[in-house]
Amino acid sequence: MNHPPVLLRTLTDLRANTASWHSEGLTVGMIPTMGALHDGHLALVEEARRRVDRVVATIFVNPTQFGPKEDFTAYPRTEASDVAKLATLGVEAVFAPNAAEMYPPGHATTISLAGPALGLETDYRPHFFAGVATVVAKLLLGGFPDIAMFGEKDYQQLLVVRQMVKDLRLPTEIVALPTVREPDGLALSSRNAYLSPDERRTAPKLASVLNETAAAIRAGGDHAHHLRHGFNALESAGFRPDYLELRNAETLASPAESSGEPLRLLVAAWLGKTRLIDNIAV
Ligand code: AMP
Repeated sequence: MNHPPVLLRTLTDLRANTASWHSEGLTVGMIPTMGALHDGHLALVEEARRRVDRVVATIFVNPTQFGPKEDFTAYPRTEASDVAKLATLGVEAVFAPNAAEMYPPGHATTISLAGPALGLETDYRPHFFAGVATVVAKLLLGGFPDIAMFGEKDYQQLLVVRQMVKDLRLPTEIVALPTVREPDGLALSSRNAYLSPDERRTAPKLASVLNETAAAIRAGGDHAHHLRHGFNALESAGFRPDYLELRNAETLASPAESSGEPLRLLVAAWLGKTRLIDNIAV
């Protein structure tokens, strides 16, 4: 039986906790999340557990990364069961602040981004990465963890966070893990809970179209043709795709045809009222 994690509500307590671990010479890993934890989140926790002496998971549904018409209010909040899951993995601390702690009245500072933040998600969710980067910066500055874990599931977010940490010279190593999937290929996501049984049956088609499109691109021929074909396949399956795009895997710049650079295929598509994202290496 593991000791239950200490529940921290303020940045001051988060900093005191990690500072005391560091003063004992212990290494610290952080896993930022919005809660509603699934096996994808828990894989990040388990990998941190293997790499460092002390693990702190954070749970915060960050209002600044949601647009005015998005699902901030509906987003699942399951703190008690999240903490219970984290306890079974032996996490030492959970940082779960309220919005006023992270954004006190008069809060006026936001991180401004370019590079990997341009295009893709930003075209459809213009506030998103400024909100993500600002809250992640506050979390990393709140705890100065030695490592912080992020999933490839949110690939553009991962590159945005890496770029920010590099540019701000934050003393944290960003560790990325591959996407954890359901047996039928659907990437685990807290938003999968929104899917109706019918939509849930269609949802794995997102990953299969990604796989088929990536295979076609690998086999050669015109990228634009394969991407159009994939986009149409998503529409035929009942999705409303925002984008299906091929990008440089390190910079997210648009690739030149047959340049031999590492490529990533990224997709965002609506299924009913649920917006799903996924990506794979090409
Ligand atoms: P979220 O709670 O959705 O903000 O995600 C918190 C962290 O978990 C982010 O680094 C995500 O990329 C990661 N994550 C979410 N879903 C998955 C998944 N299916 N596999 C691996 N990591 C994931």
